[in-house]
Amino acid sequence: MDLASRPRLTVLSGPSGVGKDAVIEVIRKQAPWVWISVSITTRRKRDYEIEGEHYHFATRKEFERYVHEGTLLEWAEFAGNLYGTPRGPVEARIATGIPTLLKIDLQGARQVREAMPQAQLVFLAPPSREELHRRLVGRGTEDPETLRRRLAHADEELAAEKEFDVTVVNDYLERAADELVGLLGSPVLAAARHHL
Ligand code: ADP
Ligand code: 5GP
Repeated sequence: MDLASRPRLTVLSGPSGVGKDAVIEVIRKQAPWVWISVSITTRRKRDYEIEGEHYHFATRKEFERYVHEGTLLEWAEFAGNLYGTPRGPVEARIATGIPTLLKIDLQGARQVREAMPQAQLVFLAPPSREELHRRLVGRGTEDPETLRRRLAHADEELAAEKEFDVTVVNDYLERAADELVGLLGSPVLAAARHHL
């Protein structure tokens, strides 16, 4: 695919603990022109998370209202919590040619593929299954039951890699982030394409 025709909407998926948030933190600093969608979730906030930056935290009742009103581009239940992408902000960024990144789970990636076939689906893979388990346990954010659910789900997520357009291996954080930035394209290219 030539640079100018790179898709403007990119989905980043991969098993829990592979390093999606860590890669996104690097992208925030190194590629500030990329707009990162802020999802809504019913999950409890982790200490390091900031409302409105990492997620919008909502009750189940509020979330169900968003679903009912059709304000979500996609949504899914993951390990006992609901997660969804607000539609309006994503559509606004795509319309103006800003490279847009959604960090969503496998079910969400499938919904985006259906709704927007031109989206680019990127799978973030661990160097090995053992390393994935080490990272998820090492993060120390989950209680034993949630950890068990996330680990059990990881094999299903790893098996879905073939549904994606591209795989980026998160071996070294900076290297993986660089590779993803290359796939996202730049706003200059997006603007140039707009005038073609
Ligand atoms: P995810 O968002 O995919 O669930 P995180 O970004 O929270 O995963 O990463 C899980 C853990 O793995 C974190 O403790 C993070 O610091 C660590 N980690 C992420 N990328 C790497 C890497 N390339 N090498 C080593 N550790 C990593
Ligand atoms: P976490 O609780 O670790 O932040 O996220 C758990 C899973 O939910 C991850 O796979 C993450 O990509 C996914 N997720 C986060 N936001 C969304 C969203 O808006 N939609 C969907 N479908 N999944 C999401």
